[in-house]
Amino acid sequence: MAGTITFTMIKPEAVRNLQSGKILDAIINSGFSLRALKLVSLSHEKASKFYEIHKERPFYNDLVAFMSSGPVIAAVLEKDNAVNAYRDLIGATNPAEAATGTIRQLFGTSIQNNAVHGSDSDENAIMEAAFFFSEFDRV
Ligand code: ATP
Ligand code: MG
Repeated sequence: MAGTITFTMIKPEAVRNLQSGKILDAIINSGFSLRALKLVSLSHEKASKFYEIHKERPFYNDLVAFMSSGPVIAAVLEKDNAVNAYRDLIGATNPAEAATGTIRQLFGTSIQNNAVHGSDSDENAIMEAAFFFSEFDRV
């Protein structure tokens, strides 16, 4: 059975451009419940670790620099079939290819600055949520 939890970050550029409120509004209006939420700066070291699975990719160094360039908003979200439902809401990785009305289409400006992160599996959602939040930070 599909899990009910996913993990998201509003990426630094979207936070800088004051889009966090609109993005959180879209998430909540799509039926996700917030289970944990915080504004946090990722150190270069923490961003490197979070994206370790991409370390052989050509964009890894740029991605780590971008994700540690300013605060992110990290959140644990709950909904039935959360991982897939959230990836449907955010759209394709590249905002230029994301479906109309998706968060990345509305708020992303490039494949790197694509507004939000979303977990890609139930296992990763649990690991990513634990990377940012202790059980005491969650409702
Ligand atoms: P995320 O993991 O952020 O939800 P995703 O699962 O859609 O995104 P991944 O393949 O996991 O995409 O890539 C992780 C992140 O790396 C992307 O969200 C994007 O910011 C960046 N990225 C991916 N592909 C490229 C690329 N070709 N050039 C630059 N940055 C990229
Ligand atoms: Mg991914």
